[in-house]
Amino acid sequence: MLTLSKFSIGVGDRFAHQAKAQLRACMLAAGHGAEVVPVWNKSHREHTTVGSEPRSVRAAADAAVRELGWTKPYHVDADHIRLNTVDGFLDSSDFFTIDVADSIGQPADPAAVKAFTDRHADLDGKVTILGRPVPTPRAELERVAGKYLRAVQDAGAIYRKIAAAKGAGTFITEVSMDETDSPQTPTELLIILAAIADEGIPVQTIAPKFTGRFNKGVDYVGDLVQFEREFRQDLAVIAFAVGRFGLPKNLKLSVHSGSDKFSIYGPIRRAVRESGAGLHVKTAGTTWLEEVIGLAEAGGAGLELAKEIYAKAIKKKDELCAPYAAVIDIDAAKLPSADEVNGWSSGQFVAALRHDPTNPAFNPHLRQLIHVGYKVAAQMGEKYTKMLEACEESIARNVTTNLYERHIRPLFVG
Ligand SMILES: [Zn+2]
Repeated sequence: MLTLSKFSIGVGDRFAHQAKAQLRACMLAAGHGAEVVPVWNKSHREHTTVGSEPRSVRAAADAAVRELGWTKPYHVDADHIRLNTVDGFLDSSDFFTIDVADSIGQPADPAAVKAFTDRHADLDGKVTILGRPVPTPRAELERVAGKYLRAVQDAGAIYRKIAAAKGAGTFITEVSMDETDSPQTPTELLIILAAIADEGIPVQTIAPKFTGRFNKGVDYVGDLVQFEREFRQDLAVIAFAVGRFGLPKNLKLSVHSGSDKFSIYGPIRRAVRESGAGLHVKTAGTTWLEEVIGLAEAGGAGLELAKEIYAKAIKKKDELCAPYAAVIDIDAAKLPSADEVNGWSSGQFVAALRHDPTNPAFNPHLRQLIHVGYKVAAQMGEKYTKMLEACEESIARNVTTNLYERHIRPLFVG
């Protein structure tokens, strides 16, 4: 069975130019004694926005691995795929993130809910998580099954479609439930894992929706104490579920929209270390933001293009923000005008965009707008990708430094 390593990082490369710079961050970790396996992830939504094909992700990953001589595992993740979007990813991916958030809350067959509840009635009173009993009375099993069973059944259908095409055991399966309205409690996670095991899905990573806000490209917003408590409970639930339901032994949490969540990296690291659990953290747009930072830092035509991207993004703000409305918080009053940004130096642009919370010039509103503004660069076509090549030195340096120093090092190294 293809098995995901204990520690892994999802990296997104929207324009397929940064795979080497991203892989260098994992090589830096290896040099410091930490094995962190890269997983290149790109969703159907990103492919549609950029106008790219899934095989381009595989090609870029393979080329980077070959050129840099990476001998450890690496994977290509069909991120957030559904039954109707999985086909295009079957050849090029060996990691599938099955997204069933849309099926959460859809009614399951009452007979299936009853069968599930009967089958797991003996959980009640038997589960102790971190020294505390977790009651799962019949009413709670029924409620959670009513809400999630249909979603898990749909995940099963997608899993079986992939397995039929590729062969069971030849790919890594993740189930994601993060793009939904309400977070899942640790008790809900336990019951969901029971259903996933019943469905026969060999899940290696699970992405619940955690408490608090995971806005794109900026820090976590929420109750840090509650987050850490629930994260530890989730880890304990997974350890229990692996033994009880016979799920894969390496099953671990996957943290989506995990880039830039600096304030929870300490709590996550502590919890993972103390429990011995594995961890997958997905990042995507943080690398695109480093491309824009690298352009601005290069000055000259690079800086001009970065300013053009901002000017176009602010003009199309509503259109660009709409698909990401649930995962951004932009205060339009705090966005500088295109004219103002046009007058900025390289240093001013970089200071506003780079995620350095200690810098008073850092502007999280501008950062979130550019985060969702990659469509603007996609529409520039070759003009954009040629500039990426012209400014490669400063871009690659920023991509590697951001991934290693701000993400991999605090989470995994030392
Ligand atoms: Zn996600």
